[in-house]
Amino acid sequence: MTLRPRVLIVDDDPANRHLLEQMLGDEYEILLAGDGEQALELCLREAPDLLLLDIEMPGLDGLQTCRRLKANPATASIPVIFVTSHDSPASEAAGLAAGAIDFIRKPIRYEAVRARVARHLQLKAQADRLRAMAYEDALTGVLNRRYFDQLLHFEGRVARRTCQPLSLVLIDIDRFKSCNDLHGHTYGDHCLRAVAAALGAALRRPQDLLARYGGEEFACLLPGTARDEALRTAEYLRREVEAAAIAHPHTPAQVLTVSLGVATLVPGERDTIEALVEKADWRLYEAKSLGRNRVCG
Ligand code: GH3
Ligand code: MG
Ligand code: MG
Ligand code: MG
Repeated sequence: MTLRPRVLIVDDDPANRHLLEQMLGDEYEILLAGDGEQALELCLREAPDLLLLDIEMPGLDGLQTCRRLKANPATASIPVIFVTSHDSPASEAAGLAAGAIDFIRKPIRYEAVRARVARHLQLKAQADRLRAMAYEDALTGVLNRRYFDQLLHFEGRVARRTCQPLSLVLIDIDRFKSCNDLHGHTYGDHCLRAVAAALGAALRRPQDLLARYGGEEFACLLPGTARDEALRTAEYLRREVEAAAIAHPHTPAQVLTVSLGVATLVPGERDTIEALVEKADWRLYEAKSLGRNRVCG
């Protein structure tokens, strides 16, 4: 089965939604939203490949919705085509400034919609392939350090603005050097992939982020997560890596284990992102010195 590209149609008028769905439904998977708020939520949750966005809607209008979409790195790469009955140069300029890639004029014509949607989906697929190469760690497939640092600063600003906590977990594989020395680097690389997979599977909220932070270190960012919940999550990550039973015969547990340091950015306090990282790092060091295979926070 090949996955069909997913197109989100946003219009406050059910007749317009229905019309576009009729035109595109045989070729694409269609998602529908009746207002801007719902569209933003669907973009975060479902990551559609393209948005057809009405401009005039009650509440958040199309321009505002587009701006918010483009301001969030998690949704910024979703192309937006405005569907509009205005064709003044000023409204076109406003749409482009908000981040739209194209316009479809009402009344909607079948050929124009099909051709534009197909073209932009093709470009999106190409951009996705390039982005994946730029954002992913090649060995493990999780986010790379460079992209993680960008997201860390972005989430820091969001946390401050929305008065939400933000937690960071730094994770370091225990006695990994001896694992490489005893079993070779190929086995070491296999272990890194297996640990990344165990950590990735253990994270259940879509907004949680996992990155390879250094050689045998991973980082996990938990937006909207306070200290207690972050400690519980870290303990769950620790147990899941242990339960993956990746053989490392020269350790007390006979399997690979990790040590974890947890720190939380608390709303109202003035801690910087740099201080958050430093704190998590210090607690990771503490977990190592207390005997490894544990969480400190
Ligand atoms: P500790 O419990 O104190 O963390 O001990 P450790 O041996 O894990 O720590 P140390 O920092 O001394 O060693 C990290 C090792 O991770 C060094 C290197 O052999 C290994 N490593 C780092 N990156 C890679 C990689 O990409 N592939 C492989 N196979 N090994 C790596
Ligand atoms: Mg409308
Ligand atoms: Mg290390
Ligand atoms: Mg280590």
